[in-house]
Amino acid sequence: MRIGFGYDSHRFEEGRRLVLGGVEFPGETGLKGHSDADALVHAIIDALLGAAALGDIGSHFPDTDPRWKDADSTALLAAVVKEIRAAGYGVGNIDATVVCERPKLRPVIDLMRERLASVMNVGKGRISLKGKTNEQMDAVGAGLGIVAHAVCLLEELGAKS
Ligand code: MG
Repeated sequence: MRIGFGYDSHRFEEGRRLVLGGVEFPGETGLKGHSDADALVHAIIDALLGAAALGDIGSHFPDTDPRWKDADSTALLAAVVKEIRAAGYGVGNIDATVVCERPKLRPVIDLMRERLASVMNVGKGRISLKGKTNEQMDAVGAGLGIVAHAVCLLEELGAKS
């Protein structure tokens, strides 16, 4: 088994749509970024790549590359899961926390879990998501952006566990 950790943050930007965990939040201010700026998916990608010692999201999908402009981050996640499998690993589980003052995540947590599980081709029971506020402290607490943390476990394919 291999453990990985990922972190990401994006600041809000007017005029962008908000996408988190592959789920769109209509009416909410979006995040600034080269791709769709899905901070949760980016943190999960970094956790997966980290666990397999395969670099990070920036080395796979540089933000200077026009191919990833406004990219759907779930497509990047699907590509990373494929690469992880090619390296001989399956996704054991993901546990992630999103920190923001808004939007409220609880009503859509299950939808995000379902979406991520489907993109990663794993059972929903392997994906855990939590939403927290930063209790109005620091930049995230002041509502400037969204932060995501993720850990993952990879299992060696073919290995007995
Ligand atoms: Mg990012």
